[in-house]
Amino acid sequence: MDFALTEQQLAIEESVAKICRQFDDEYWSKCDEQARFPLEFHRAMADGGWLGITMPEELGGAGLGVLEAAIMMQTVAAGGGAQAAASALHINLFGPHAIVVHGTPEQKARFLTPLIKGEQKACFGVTEPDAGLDTTSIKTFATRVPGGYRVSGRKMWTSTGQVADKILLLTRTTAKDDAKRPTDGMTLFYTDLDRSKIEVRRIHKLGRNAVDSNAVFIDDLFIPESDRIGEEGKGFSYILHSLNPERVLVAAEAIGLGRDALRRAALYARDRVVFGRPIGQNQGIQHPLAECWTKLEAAWWMTLRAGWLYDQGLSCGAEANAAKFLAAQAAFETATRAVLTHGGMGYAREYQVERLFRESILPRIAPVTEQLILSFIAEKVLGLPKSY
Ligand SMILES: Cc1cc2nc3c(=O)[nH]c(=O)nc-3n(C[C@H](O)[C@H](O)[C@H](O)COP(=O)(O)OP(=O)(O)OC[C@H]3O[C@@H](n4cnc5c(N)ncnc54)[C@H](O)[C@@H]3O)c2cc1C
Repeated sequence: MDFALTEQQLAIEESVAKICRQFDDEYWSKCDEQARFPLEFHRAMADGGWLGITMPEELGGAGLGVLEAAIMMQTVAAGGGAQAAASALHINLFGPHAIVVHGTPEQKARFLTPLIKGEQKACFGVTEPDAGLDTTSIKTFATRVPGGYRVSGRKMWTSTGQVADKILLLTRTTAKDDAKRPTDGMTLFYTDLDRSKIEVRRIHKLGRNAVDSNAVFIDDLFIPESDRIGEEGKGFSYILHSLNPERVLVAAEAIGLGRDALRRAALYARDRVVFGRPIGQNQGIQHPLAECWTKLEAAWWMTLRAGWLYDQGLSCGAEANAAKFLAAQAAFETATRAVLTHGGMGYAREYQVERLFRESILPRIAPVTEQLILSFIAEKVLGLPKSY
């Protein structure tokens, strides 16, 4: 057993951190205040070749594993940009995973190359207003027509829809009631986000304002057959394949945010003098911060283990879910504690921790909630009856 990061993994941390240092607090504050996509950051990461970290080498990607992608995303989120920085890349990194695994060589070249180069952006249309976490109840329907499909329906929360060129879209091609199993009859497409047929309406939200999320209305969109990923009716299984790696990445991003919040809290606790001594000399300030460190570290090693299991081709569902659960809670607790450590200044934008705090609840909710994670572990690990 060897817990040390390899030279290559350490180099990933170092190189990504170097790019992140070009984007300071003022940059991220402005992106948040103006609800502006961090285009310059996205460009810098694309130019550094980082958007292709998990993509095939023959297309210009690095062909590395989820473990390396997790190390990269932890570094990205820890660099000050938190969820906004991570989400600007995340969807391009992991949304199209189904294409990497199930796309034809022609589709991989056509779809993945522009993503790797940062020439196109993708969004991920799975969640629907009337289905929620019960994905098999989605209603967006693709009807077969000569040469392709006609699609109508609604999606909810679709992130980066304001700036995306493409959408990865999960639809039904057989109604749930007519399918053999609820998970059958769903079909996945990767296609142009044609704004003449798709209305993308921004949702005003608590945080991560630099990266938009949207209600999406699709009205009689034609999708050519060449934009269907894999076989008709098997879309749900393709999406499932990418869920565990996505959870590992979300966990890594949460830990990055938590570590940045902890760094800022410790810095303030060393500097701020009240009652004639630094506030960090009080155990009431020290202990909660030290406890946050232990929780972030524990979640980090769970995350690396889950990523490693995935890359070895081993089963990792419980571990990936546990990593996401632990990391999100640790990040939220740390960001809360960072605000409290700053006292009144924690509430001021100047110290950044309020931005991290607003963003830190997101990984507890998306892409899957804590309740559903616990229900999954109860069923799959503990053998208890399925509850959802
Ligand atoms: C900022 C943001 C960005 C997002 N980006 C995207 C995106 O790009 N693409 C995309 O497709 N989706 C996206 N999502 C959607 C996200 O994945 C969902 O919000 C999440 O999966 C929860 O689904 P829901 O909101 O419909 O909750 P619901 O399904 O309505 O659940 C509401 C609450 O009930 C609980 N609950 C429901 N059923 C059960 C049960 N059986 N047992 C116990 N508890 C239960 C849930 O855990 C939750 O607490 C995003 C969400 C947010 C907030």
